[in-house]
Amino acid sequence: MTEQYVAAIDQGTTSSRCMVFDATGTPISVAQREHRQHFPQPGWVEHDAEEIWENVEWTIREALAGASIGPDRLAAVGITNQRETTLVWDRTTGRPVANAIVWQDTRTVPLLRRLDQTYGEHRFRARTGLPLATYFAGPKLMWLLAEVDGLRERAERGEVLFGTMESWLIWKLTGEHVTDVTNASRTLLMDLRTLDWDPQILDLMGIPAAMLPQVRSSAEIYGTATGVLDGVPVASALGDQQAALFGQTCFEPGEAKCTYGTGSFLLLNTGTEPVVSGHGLLTTVGYRIGDQPATYALEGAIAVTGSLVQWLRDNLGLISAAPEVEELARSVEDNGGCYVVPAFSGLFAPHWRSDARGVIAGLTGYITKGHLARAVLEASAWQTREVVDAMNADSAVPLRNLRVDGGMTGNELLMQYVADVLDVPVVRPAVTETTCLGAAYAAGLAVGFWPDLETLRAQWRQDAQWQPAMDPDHRNRELRNWRKAVERTLNWTDD
Ligand code: ADP
Repeated sequence: MTEQYVAAIDQGTTSSRCMVFDATGTPISVAQREHRQHFPQPGWVEHDAEEIWENVEWTIREALAGASIGPDRLAAVGITNQRETTLVWDRTTGRPVANAIVWQDTRTVPLLRRLDQTYGEHRFRARTGLPLATYFAGPKLMWLLAEVDGLRERAERGEVLFGTMESWLIWKLTGEHVTDVTNASRTLLMDLRTLDWDPQILDLMGIPAAMLPQVRSSAEIYGTATGVLDGVPVASALGDQQAALFGQTCFEPGEAKCTYGTGSFLLLNTGTEPVVSGHGLLTTVGYRIGDQPATYALEGAIAVTGSLVQWLRDNLGLISAAPEVEELARSVEDNGGCYVVPAFSGLFAPHWRSDARGVIAGLTGYITKGHLARAVLEASAWQTREVVDAMNADSAVPLRNLRVDGGMTGNELLMQYVADVLDVPVVRPAVTETTCLGAAYAAGLAVGFWPDLETLRAQWRQDAQWQPAMDPDHRNRELRNWRKAVERTLNWTDD
């Protein structure tokens, strides 16, 4: 038999990618294309969903060409995507009624304030696991229903469809209008326990059920593609961070991954019961395979990690490329008593303080740019520690080790420091494209290309591991200083 492969489409915030994997989970080819970011007003961010679809088609063609195969050699295709980005399109013409509203967009602030005042945040958090924040898709959909002429009436008549980006792509590929539990868990509209739309919340938000996709598992055949992937089963969908959790094979409660990019996202597998956080974390669905019970996760989002390194490069000009921060940091023994808390637009998890602004604390005449570089790297590690402390407080299963991926994990000094401050081993996999890998794994499982989770687990390969080596007294002293520095960021803005 000719060798079969699995493809993954990663529809991200700045670009779309397609990767082809072989049966050992090794990447064979990749193609990527960026799309435009539209900023029609301050705080607004939009994407043209037609452009994204064209890019996705292009990357599929290129990735297949790169692997020298046709779609007949694909056992399945899986999808992973930027989460929460919201689209409505016409059921008949297939045209979007407006640009997609991107997760970063903050236009729903007033609308969320009204929901909070009228119903209280608790009501939403208890059902959906989420706070009332501009991130999530439901409020963006409310905005579209209120602002696009005639949309509400068309939605009630079932003429238009809502979806996040995986829904859009699955619909374009197969004509099916579905979403998966991980993406649905980011809408503020899904009941975490029933894994379906919550009728009461739809009512409170005034969202017609007729426009919503069917909620399906993350790994099952949603339909068969036509066009560029003609005949290929579309067999998985996972939000990008959940796909990374899956690609890192964090299948056991207590296993976690952190993706270190512009910002960082830590997800901890908490097993088959949702843990509602009392410490500023989001409760979300990690994945669900076919009709098996869903696996839940706690999620901690850190706004500024890699972008602090960019700030050192672009705003201070202390380095000319991000990786140079490591050499600069290694030019000194320690942070010299200096701490940088990058609360550039407030603090995210676990603090959620929009009034905070960044500080450089402990400045003395002794501090050099080397100390500053060290403090910049350490900031990512301490922010991770704060999220892990919140997770350990929320969850009965403490973190045992941390699997990492993303652009910053090339920084060995940082990885050692993360292991030191968390006091658990930090592990980097051989395949760092964990997002695509997770989508491919889930799709391959759904069609029997891989038989079970154990097989995936067995083929996961470690590239490097860092063991904690810091003296506990030293760690505690540094933690106290970090906490003092964080305190100094609070109550900065007046509004
Ligand atoms: P994203 O997916 O969010 O765009 P990436 O995973 O591509 O991010 O990582 C890019 C980020 O990582 C940038 O913010 C950059 O500053 C940071 N980065 C890249 N290499 C290093 C390094 N060696 N040390 C520290 N930071 C790095």
